[in-house]
Amino acid sequence: MRDVLDDARLLIIDDDALTRLLAAEALRESGFTVFEADCGDDGLRLFGSVNPDLVLLDVMMPGIDGFEVCRRLREEPRGHRLPIIMLTGLEDTRSIERAYDEGATDFISKPINWTLLRHRVRYALRSAALLDELVRSEDVLANAQRIGRMGSWEWVPQEDLLQCSDTYMTLFGENASTFGSGHDAVLSRVYPADRELLGEALEGARNGRAYQLEYRIVRPDGAVRTMQEIAVPVFDASGEVSSVQGTLQDVTDRVEGERRIRYLAYFDSLTGLPNRQSFRETLDGIVLRAGRRNESCAVMFLDVDRFGRINESLGQDCADQVLQLIAARLRDFSRFELANEIARDAREEVFVARLGGDEFALMLEGVDEEQALFDIALRLQAQLQRPIRVAGHDLTLSACVGLSVFPAHAGDADSLMKCAETAVSQAKREGSGGHIQQFTEEMKIASFAKLSLENALRRGVDRGELRMFYQAKVDAVHKRIVGAEALVRWAHPERGLVSPGEFVPLAEEVGLIVPLSEWVVREVCRQLAQWRAGGLNPPPISINLSAGHFRHVGLLDLIGDALERNRIDPDLLEFELTESSLMRDAELTDRILNGFREKGLRIAVDDFGTGYSSLAYLKRFALDVVKIDRSFVNDIEDDASDAAIVAAIVAMTRTLGIEVVAEGVETESQVQHLIALGCHVMQGYLYSHPVSAAEFENTLRNGLPALAA
Ligand code: C2E
Ligand code: CA
Ligand code: CA
Repeated sequence: MRDVLDDARLLIIDDDALTRLLAAEALRESGFTVFEADCGDDGLRLFGSVNPDLVLLDVMMPGIDGFEVCRRLREEPRGHRLPIIMLTGLEDTRSIERAYDEGATDFISKPINWTLLRHRVRYALRSAALLDELVRSEDVLANAQRIGRMGSWEWVPQEDLLQCSDTYMTLFGENASTFGSGHDAVLSRVYPADRELLGEALEGARNGRAYQLEYRIVRPDGAVRTMQEIAVPVFDASGEVSSVQGTLQDVTDRVEGERRIRYLAYFDSLTGLPNRQSFRETLDGIVLRAGRRNESCAVMFLDVDRFGRINESLGQDCADQVLQLIAARLRDFSRFELANEIARDAREEVFVARLGGDEFALMLEGVDEEQALFDIALRLQAQLQRPIRVAGHDLTLSACVGLSVFPAHAGDADSLMKCAETAVSQAKREGSGGHIQQFTEEMKIASFAKLSLENALRRGVDRGELRMFYQAKVDAVHKRIVGAEALVRWAHPERGLVSPGEFVPLAEEVGLIVPLSEWVVREVCRQLAQWRAGGLNPPPISINLSAGHFRHVGLLDLIGDALERNRIDPDLLEFELTESSLMRDAELTDRILNGFREKGLRIAVDDFGTGYSSLAYLKRFALDVVKIDRSFVNDIEDDASDAAIVAAIVAMTRTLGIEVVAEGVETESQVQHLIALGCHVMQGYLYSHPVSAAEFENTLRNGLPALAA
């Protein structure tokens, strides 16, 4: 089979130029040939001429919408089995249902995760190729039947007499002289594990029950084939079963095809390991069985330490290779080291799965002693820690391990997995990595460390342990400070300054975000007033708003109150929101943003380019500022597509009168590239790290050294 992924042609139909650009870039990077259409009509026309292997289709488009395009594509002869992936709004279940009704193969909801997009496209292409193959093999099967590949038989139970057609015996790889003539002749050729099944079915048939059954047989040459048998009892005049008649068919190819389709649904395409779904389903069965037998089993979750850093510093391809290596090591470990110790019979392998990202899991039957589990975990870690070389880099990996045991910790698969997950998060919090943590009673009440961090944060907010830092925003052409971003820190009494990446998400989760954000808004306004009182003329300050606070009813009043109290004009404040928090509920967002506009407050979109990145919503929400995500700036020198994306964002925002800011500028060369692309306002370590209020005040008085030249 030609590898579908080698030279697949993709067609993107989306009216949003930026989404198209970003998707096309992401997919071209993976080696696909990409064609683009900006409306349904154009898409249908292009479909006729480029003959794509897959179509990515936006739902909402002016003119004929995505649903209609999908329907029409399906009517085309070449469109019957074409994979069509629809791009729908976030959690827009009605669109998703409708997309499937119109024949979509899959959907991806916006905001689009570009990495995921590539995987989904690959997956859809592979499934389509398999389906083609399957259809072909089904045709073959039908032909085979037509020329008589269906065996038939009749069994008279009273005399245990079996009569069968020649084809029937050929299916077993035998002939009349070797086959035998009774019920046992068949059963002895049936795969041992399926014998009971067939025996019972035959027993039922002699008592008047028809059956349809699939079972495996073993041919004289050792080949195992899967058969489908249909049998019906024949009754005599007195209503007794006089015989059983049946047909037999070799369905190995079909079963094999189905097995491969199943493979795609249950296995992770990167590593070939079972995925979360199959882990869960298998664990379901194992737990049931262990429960019946009064036995135990254990679940071991692994989370690779600092994998994000590998991903960031070595790139995704290397990170993928690392994951594949980890998978291979886990598989080898379970096969060659563990299997002999704990699996009961040879067919029972220790189940290893990739749950997603850098998380893996093992299922261990018959082990429950803490010491034995820790011992296995330690040996597993030792395997992982053997140095590896990926793309010229020497790496040493480690992983945190979380353990949970049935029935001690939980009574079903889901809860067992949750326990192991809790245990592994606890292990990760322990610090430098490589920790092993068994699920404990304390965790059952609540994840203990989280609880204490939560309590500490609550106290911290009350006791004034939060600090505001400020990072200058500069105009690189006119070399002056044009604003600053306020970034919160937590001065933890023991841990020192804690970064917001650690506690802002926690605050959101435990409902502390509103008090925390309120403090930030008040503090920034107070600080602005203090600087003014000291004779300074501070620039506008941007405040990050998390989704939870943005939707909080009291927000606008709070801001109004803080401004008034400190006698500050609203144009000294700006609020940064991420794309996803804007998109969560577009109508509510509209209403809230109107409130901001009425008060004269400006809104910036943070981390632009990582989510929806849609022109349509920039327009709809009439946003003031777009902050281009650090990841694009980072590679602007070496990566032509990142430069193209920045250029496109600058061009599009300019036509809409939206200001652009580049985030994470670290080198002079990035500055030159950005200026050349038309982006003049920047923020980043090159100019200044986030600094304390006192230091920033100093900057306001004396200027930034980086701007002095
Ligand atoms: P963000 O809004 O994207 O903030 C920019 C982050 O990038 C800051 O990290 C900043 O220190 C960092 N950064 C700035 N210049 C550079 C650079 O040149 N290179 C690199 N590598 N990084 C740079 P920080 O301060 O740790 O903040 C992390 C995130 O925490 C922020 O991301 C923001 O989403 C959130 N956050 C910070 N303060 C607040 C706050 O007061 N309220 C809320 N709700 N969220 C906040
Ligand atoms: Ca920000
Ligand atoms: Ca940002």
